[in-house]
Amino acid sequence: MPDDVGTVYLVGSGPGDPELMTVKARRLLEEADVVLHDKLPGPEILGEIPDDKREDVGKRADGEWTPQEYTNRRLVDLAEAGNTVVRLKGGDPFVFGRGGEEMEHLAANGIPFEVVPGITSPIAGAGVAGIPVTHRDHVSSVSFVTGHEDPTKDESAVDWAALAATGGTLIVLMGVGKLPLYIEALLDAGMDPDTPVALVERATWPNMRVATGTMETIVDVRDQRGIEPPAITIIGGVAATREAVVDFLRNRSDTPDIAPTEVDE
Ligand code: SAH
Repeated sequence: MPDDVGTVYLVGSGPGDPELMTVKARRLLEEADVVLHDKLPGPEILGEIPDDKREDVGKRADGEWTPQEYTNRRLVDLAEAGNTVVRLKGGDPFVFGRGGEEMEHLAANGIPFEVVPGITSPIAGAGVAGIPVTHRDHVSSVSFVTGHEDPTKDESAVDWAALAATGGTLIVLMGVGKLPLYIEALLDAGMDPDTPVALVERATWPNMRVATGTMETIVDVRDQRGIEPPAITIIGGVAATREAVVDFLRNRSDTPDIAPTEVDE
């Protein structure tokens, strides 16, 4: 290994609005020799990075994800060749971002690294939609959950019944496709069908959309509005807070779509 081994920075880019990136993230993007990223930082932030120092390690042209082993190895190889490397991840690098695995791999290979936290999408996405993740009148806990696992599978690591029992806010990431499955699991666990639910798509991007409903209606709302990833699902009393404030809420979205939605009965 050469003496001048480079440092790898595991950097969170925040939810997508370039102004919500940390000052440190911005500096490191400028200083980096190479930036490894996927699509999640969003078009605005990625558009600011010169093409000749970007490497996309997200979904490939064939629709498959770049294998994690490749990314791990690439980070080590680039650092060993003396590069300053930024591994840029949407939101925070350690919230469902596989940043933990990359950090362990770097340490195991003797590569110096630094972690640069970012504003994670479940907090940012709720906030810009006018939904406080906690609220004295509603909840005193909040859980971040992956919606990627199939709740009907025996080996599912997510205990939806236990989550329903917390009575706190639930925020599901990667949960657009399997929405009907975990909504059903939560209802089966006894959650009130009138519990408010909000979907926040592309939070803080210029084309952000918010769709609201209840446990009973949200799957239809998703289908009618064509909500797609990246989006977060916010489940709990706090999701209704938006309704009373939305007329006064300003953000980057200039689409009328951000108004609350009722499904046709
Ligand atoms: N590390 C990221 C999460 C990675 S998992 C973070 O801290 O935010 C990918 C999931 O994050 C997406 O499926 C979606 O649920 C959520 N997500 C990331 N950026 C988002 C955005 N701008 N708006 C809505 N959801 C987002």
